[in-house]
Amino acid sequence: MSMRLSRSVVGEREADAVRRVIVEDGYLGMGSEVHRFEDELADYLGVEASLLATANTGTAALTMAVDAVAPGHFGEGRRGSVLVPSLTFVASFQAITACGCEAIPCEVLLETGTLDLEDCAKRLRPDTFAIMPVHYASNPYHIDEIYAFAKEHGLRVIEDAAHAFGCRHKGKKIGSFGDVVCFSFDGIKNITSGEGGLVVCHNQDEAYTMQDVRLLSVAKDTKARFTGGRTWDPDVTRQGWRFHMSNIMAAIGRVQLTRLESEFIPARKRLSALYKTLLADESRVAFLKTSPDDDICPHIQPLRVLNGRMHEVRQYLLDHDIPVGVHYKPNHLLSYFKSQAPLPVTEQLYSELMTLPLHPALSDDDITLVCKTIRDALDKA
Ligand SMILES: *Cc1c(COP(=O)(O)O)cnc(C)c1O
Repeated sequence: MSMRLSRSVVGEREADAVRRVIVEDGYLGMGSEVHRFEDELADYLGVEASLLATANTGTAALTMAVDAVAPGHFGEGRRGSVLVPSLTFVASFQAITACGCEAIPCEVLLETGTLDLEDCAKRLRPDTFAIMPVHYASNPYHIDEIYAFAKEHGLRVIEDAAHAFGCRHKGKKIGSFGDVVCFSFDGIKNITSGEGGLVVCHNQDEAYTMQDVRLLSVAKDTKARFTGGRTWDPDVTRQGWRFHMSNIMAAIGRVQLTRLESEFIPARKRLSALYKTLLADESRVAFLKTSPDDDICPHIQPLRVLNGRMHEVRQYLLDHDIPVGVHYKPNHLLSYFKSQAPLPVTEQLYSELMTLPLHPALSDDDITLVCKTIRDALDKA
């Protein structure tokens, strides 16, 4: 299969940056390169660098966010519950349960694949302390309504914005406003640092906590490392993890950040728009809806295939060397997170959605071929 569903778009500049860290700096762990990456990320988002903590994965970022926001302390038993759409990468659920909290799987809207707040209201429990919207396919749909819902019910908001780095709502970048916002820089996301993640926390005390817990909670060490030293008189007051980013990862991420606005966002938007243009008159499929308030840099390109024909169309594409993905098997259908509550809309979407190839290295001809093959599949009796 020559076409790829998704891929890292990295090259000589990223390789040079890694080489510079190895050959010139020689310190590969968390140090000055990570510090610079955080400053540049803060600049990009237009927030204070003190509100940021990079991490080694998006999952680690989510875990630190849940832990910082959850009542009580790690290891002290159940800490409450979090509303989260079942239609998400399992990382969202794992981050919640890793902190001793319960994930309450919620419905999504059929037209968008994002949280259904009416359903969330029905699933609220006395111990629910947060809501975790997932910007599915980079769509921060109804984000203002989600914050209003959280305010009304006294909940914290932890945005799983793994898909949404570089997206904007009413002109403001996702991450530049809100409560706690988590991004992923894994190999195929809108930018990559090899693996990697970022949490932006708009509560300064909690942001400091996250900067500490990511490095085993040796509070004084982060500061010392950023200025090239180490602390030899440590103290630890809470559970921590080895969730920190390395200089090697940051070197890749710094180059990728310079390519986001000039290269990756225009390419992803153009290719996604082309899919929508080429299939605009095709009533047997449907794209997910977005709001004119949102300016989206799509990480994935889901398509609904209607009339129960998704598996048939998917197989046809695979038979014709076109890769197709599944985002995602709903979490309430996984053994570890099984729940009794039926989620009919989520399950309908799971039966309809397939993910088409999308990454900045695809050409317009690639998209034209995928669309033509989809029509061929649909026309086949
Ligand atoms: C990628 C992703 C994550 C986790 O990020 P990693 O960097 O892969 O750990 C979390 N949630 C969603 C929706 C994702 O797509």
